[in-house]
Amino acid sequence: MPEFTFRTVAMCRDAAHGKITNVGGFVQHFHTNGRATCTCPAGNATTPCDHIEEARELVCDYVEPVDGPPAPGNRCPKCGQPVVFSKWAE
Ligand SMILES: [Zn+2]
Ligand SMILES: [Zn+2]
Repeated sequence: MPEFTFRTVAMCRDAAHGKITNVGGFVQHFHTNGRATCTCPAGNATTPCDHIEEARELVCDYVEPVDGPPAPGNRCPKCGQPVVFSKWAE
């Protein structure tokens, strides 16, 4: 059994709650575990389809362990939305 330690980190609302986008007539769903799926025939493959690559531009993926601490007022340093705090396994 792997052992995880958890700490509380800031992340963008987009990254914490998942986000739905619409590219090329298909729907992309960005999941809170970092995975993304698309309703097109290639959408569940291990390699992201073009729609997901394109939709990533529309979705903020700020998480503190990767991108550093939040901006003053607990704002996302990438897009300016309020951040939320979540447990993070390491
Ligand atoms: Zn797709
Ligand atoms: Zn953001």
